[in-house]
Amino acid sequence: MKMKRLAVLLLALALIVGLEVALTHGLGGGESASAPAATASPEPTAEPAATPEPTPPIDLEKTKPNEAGEIPIVMFHAFVEETEPDESASTSFKQYTQSFAYFKDLLGRLYDMGYRMTSMNDFLSNSIAVEAGYKPVIFTFDDSSASQFSLIEENGELVVNPQCAVAVMLDFYKEHPDFGLEGTFYVNLGASPFYEERTEGTPLAGTAQERLQYLIDLGFEVGNHTYSHYSLPDARDAETVMYEVGKNQAVMYDLVKDYTFTSFSLPFGSTTPDLFEYVKGGVYEGVAYKNLGIVEVGWDPAISPVNPDYNPYSIHRIRGTGFLAEDCDFEWWLKNPRDPIYVSDGDPDIVTVPESYLSLVDQSKLGTKQLRTY
Ligand SMILES: [Zn+2]
Repeated sequence: MKMKRLAVLLLALALIVGLEVALTHGLGGGESASAPAATASPEPTAEPAATPEPTPPIDLEKTKPNEAGEIPIVMFHAFVEETEPDESASTSFKQYTQSFAYFKDLLGRLYDMGYRMTSMNDFLSNSIAVEAGYKPVIFTFDDSSASQFSLIEENGELVVNPQCAVAVMLDFYKEHPDFGLEGTFYVNLGASPFYEERTEGTPLAGTAQERLQYLIDLGFEVGNHTYSHYSLPDARDAETVMYEVGKNQAVMYDLVKDYTFTSFSLPFGSTTPDLFEYVKGGVYEGVAYKNLGIVEVGWDPAISPVNPDYNPYSIHRIRGTGFLAEDCDFEWWLKNPRDPIYVSDGDPDIVTVPESYLSLVDQSKLGTKQLRTY
């Protein structure tokens, strides 16, 4: 970027000098024809300055990048302090809830296995910048619960509640900054997000606006999960879908000015084939929305954005393991990895793929990215 600005400056300077030469030495009339020649000549000298700096080479044999591989996008729901669930707890509670201690342990294991955090937006734009030789992992959190993220008041200031997943991530990030700090929170703004009444312990604090802004300021992303956690198959008309998706965006704009959701998580993992166009985009009371990616409730890793079968409106996720571990949840996938796993080349502008995996690359999906094979 800097180099480009320098080139423009040089060119502008050359134009001024050229013009001055023409003005000083020009004798009017027929002389005007010499001016373009004078202004055109500096261009070739300015051109090399515009060349971007070369990326330092990486040892492909050592780092073995494969950007045609699969990425785990993990879906989390709720967290509790207890390390064992209550005996009377429902099966779905046990499937969708874990302890903070488990979550902390998981971060450490992912780090040791060579995983590094990336964001949903970097995935959607195929601009994954994880260090060369490392595997990206994406965290998503559905339903905007207080155990994912919440604030308390301390000495008159809002701080992250130590009893929430974000606090665990912040602590881990302090010790391991190279792990990264990313995550997308799919919110339902029909209810106050990241908040619950508390009868014991420190009361939660902050307004919806303060909590969302705080989360965004920490570098996390916020995504759309409908206004009221609506089951899309129940929708009978476009208006209902646009109300649920569009009103959530409208309320977000009211709370955090200019914050546009870029992705959407299907409530209950269910969709509406007939009205799907309105899940992707629409207008509610003059507020337009457009989802660049739609994530599902699934059971396997997401394929690379360059894969011929990649569909941004059907992105697979893996359920974060709850108290009740099950086949095809995240722990299962960590124990039963599937080839190929996405391994980064460290350069978001280059897509590096071993030659034997070239069939997993649709070149029309590369956009402005350069393809490198080895
Ligand atoms: Zn949900």
